[in-house]
Amino acid sequence: MNTNANFSNTPFWHDDVDLTVQTTALEQLCDTVEVLIVGSGFTALSAALTLARAGKSVTIVEAQDIASGASSRNGGLLGPSFHKLGIQGLIKKFGQQAADDLLKESLKGFDWLLDFIETEKIDCDLNRCGRFRGALRPAHFKSLAQQAESLAEKLDYPVKIIEKSEQYAEVGSTKYHGGVVYTKDASLHPAKLVKGLIQLCQQQGVTFVAQAKVEKITQNSAGFIVEFAQRKINAATVLIATNGYTGDVTAQLKKRILPIRSSMIATEPLSASLMKRISPNLRTHGGTDRLVFYYRPTPDGKRFLFGGRALSYRDKPQEYYHFLRQNMCALFPQLQQTTITHAWSGLVAYSFDHIPHLGVKNGMYYAMGYCGSGVARANYLGHQIALKMLGQGGETCFDQFDFPDQALYSGNPWFMPTLLRWHSFADKWGF
Ligand SMILES: Cc1cc2nc3c(=O)[nH]c(=O)nc-3n(C[C@H](O)[C@H](O)[C@H](O)COP(=O)(O)OP(=O)(O)OC[C@H]3O[C@@H](n4cnc5c(N)ncnc54)[C@H](O)[C@@H]3O)c2cc1C
Repeated sequence: MNTNANFSNTPFWHDDVDLTVQTTALEQLCDTVEVLIVGSGFTALSAALTLARAGKSVTIVEAQDIASGASSRNGGLLGPSFHKLGIQGLIKKFGQQAADDLLKESLKGFDWLLDFIETEKIDCDLNRCGRFRGALRPAHFKSLAQQAESLAEKLDYPVKIIEKSEQYAEVGSTKYHGGVVYTKDASLHPAKLVKGLIQLCQQQGVTFVAQAKVEKITQNSAGFIVEFAQRKINAATVLIATNGYTGDVTAQLKKRILPIRSSMIATEPLSASLMKRISPNLRTHGGTDRLVFYYRPTPDGKRFLFGGRALSYRDKPQEYYHFLRQNMCALFPQLQQTTITHAWSGLVAYSFDHIPHLGVKNGMYYAMGYCGSGVARANYLGHQIALKMLGQGGETCFDQFDFPDQALYSGNPWFMPTLLRWHSFADKWGF
């Protein structure tokens, strides 16, 4: 096996997209701003654009470089992101009506983003390539097939059932027991989408402030006092768009979010024939494993990207490089000799009910908890929360659910590495 670990620790996507943004220094910012958004990923950018187009003066403040969170470092797999429980699980937990509403809202968010990208003509390598999801056990195939039939019937969401005997036309791995193809799913270049959104925001006069970590927010009669290490400013309205990076500044949100590190590797360019064997239709892919591995070709079809949960909460590139490489080669032994050029990670946010949440807490608006599937959700819910802030609607079916917390959990996911190792063990031994 080629385990030469000389890889870049920056996302593959950053190689061909310059995310340098014209920013305002924190010291230069006015003492009072109208709308202040904390965070600068998809949620923030999508909300900022909607608010600025409605005439609001919007300031985005980001603790690190602009858009350096999950939004510019994800896999770019784009789909409706139906709930983790599946249709039957959803009905059991929430009841028939709420389950139907959740499925429809997921699809609405996905359609919204596709339409937005096309209307705004954002060049982000959007490809309606479809997604193959492989069954790792024969029983998984049965439930995937049942779910596919329900999706087709309930939502008119076309899904093809692929028997094991036909699966090599979809994926070059012997590990699966058939699967399904979600034919409407898509892929994109996340950093290009970020760049396109930033440009649209800049055209609307949105102010960007980088290296500006919000340390404290206090509500007063005029709005909020927002404190940074260097200074304080006043903001009439605040939106928290920090998802997996949500911290102590908003302890009420932090305790409702389980941050999990997601990691990815990129291979060197593969020969056309090797890529054709691995991913014959150049779709996005995933399986039914608990650790949620996902993979896809790059937009030019030359390299292979493979991602999954990292076992540690901290950023440990050597650890996830080996872990992802090992799992990629277990699925595709054809890649044993392939060099890995990039390995990187970022934080995603799970909610305890696996539903994204948006609303108002302690007077501040928020949208977060995309459960690892935030490309469509963050963009769509960023737009919806902005509509709520404007008093122009923005209703979603997520509004009917409280944002749950968990007894004894205050936002420190100390137990996650053990839980993820258990999932890894369970995947391996088929529990
Ligand atoms: C490796 C990886 C792969 C993924 N793959 C996919 C995929 O293929 N498909 C999919 O749908 N989703 C995927 N996701 C999830 C998706 O990227 C996220 O759900 C989405 O980008 C969240 O966007 P956001 O704007 O809410 O948060 P982010 O983009 O994470 O932005 C949050 C920002 O808030 C900032 N911040 C936090 N606290 C403060 C503070 N106090 N002051 C100032 N700024 C602060 C952070 O620095 C950060 O930049 C992936 C995520 C990762 C990490």
